[in-house]
Amino acid sequence: MKTAVFSARRYDQTLLARANVAGAHQLLFLQDRLSLETAGLAAGCEAVSVFVNDDAGAAVLEQLAAQGTRFVTTRSTGFNHIDALAAARLGMTVARVADYSPHSVAEFAVGLLLAVNRKIARASMRTREGNFELDGLMGFDLHGKTVGVIGTGKIGAIFARIMAGFGSKVLGSDMHRNAEFEALGGRYVEAAELFAASDVVSLHCPLTEATRYIVNAQSLASAKHGCILVNTSRGGLVDTEAAIAALKSGRLRGLAIDVYEQEASLFFQDLSSTVITDDVIQRLVSFPNVIVTGHQAFFTEEAIGQIMQTTIRNLSEFEAGADLGERLVRA
Ligand code: NAD
Repeated sequence: MKTAVFSARRYDQTLLARANVAGAHQLLFLQDRLSLETAGLAAGCEAVSVFVNDDAGAAVLEQLAAQGTRFVTTRSTGFNHIDALAAARLGMTVARVADYSPHSVAEFAVGLLLAVNRKIARASMRTREGNFELDGLMGFDLHGKTVGVIGTGKIGAIFARIMAGFGSKVLGSDMHRNAEFEALGGRYVEAAELFAASDVVSLHCPLTEATRYIVNAQSLASAKHGCILVNTSRGGLVDTEAAIAALKSGRLRGLAIDVYEQEASLFFQDLSSTVITDDVIQRLVSFPNVIVTGHQAFFTEEAIGQIMQTTIRNLSEFEAGADLGERLVRA
């Protein structure tokens, strides 16, 4: 099937081409992000493959449908960048990668937590400069501390299991109880109690209308003083201005984010030779107790291999009229 692959980085091109055994699909690799300006590049393609910062909103989908696209498959589990209702109205099918190494993201969240708590990036930069001082590098033991997990699905449950291994007490907030989470000693509480009791809060729920700004001025005001917030889920879960205010007041002792609400115009590109005009991210990276990474939590050999194979499988199964099961995104 002729497929336009948007936001195709070098690794997407190499690994997707490798997964496309015997050239089953004709892949047109495009480095551009999908947007109203670039949708025309997919003219004549029955399918498009997108990534997390592509714009698959109603207007873009309408243009794609008018050009003959019938299938949109995202190389991610999250699908908040696709207007599923508009797709259904236009008769388009939407698919995702429902399942790929959840360990990749959970392990990275733990890495971010350790890095921000124990100031590992700062320490490494210091020793490169020949500074072996310890002042300013003190963290706290995770053993015996309370870790709140918002969203105890696949990734959240693995994160919780790792934290239980550290000897942390684990609290969870989720409308669906996960037996795996409870089996490791996790205790479900209301979100307000989780914020009030947790030394660390880690976000693992999807971005939906209900979860947008789940971390805001109000939830931060009720958070335990000096807690650390980790977000490897989606930028829109956190009101960044409110997080900056909480960092200034000391309510937040640290912030570690792999995702950022305005990341679409920044992430997955080298902007080191340009003037970054986003003052909020510039303010964030100026804090000594903030770590920002560019949406790389998923980036392991295992996860990427699975994402590419599932993307090709989605294309093949859609073409064959097969049932995509939990990989189908329903409106
Ligand atoms: P999942 O569907 O297995 O789990 C999500 C959980 O969140 C579910 O249990 C769901 O009930 C819960 N949830 C939904 N709304 C909630 C709410 N209002 N409050 C509390 N819990 C709520 O998904 P997953 O595979 O664990 O992935 C979680 C998220 O991680 C994805 O939606 C995606 O945004 C993010 N993610 C990020 C990266 C990255 O590279 N940074 C990679 C993959 C996934």
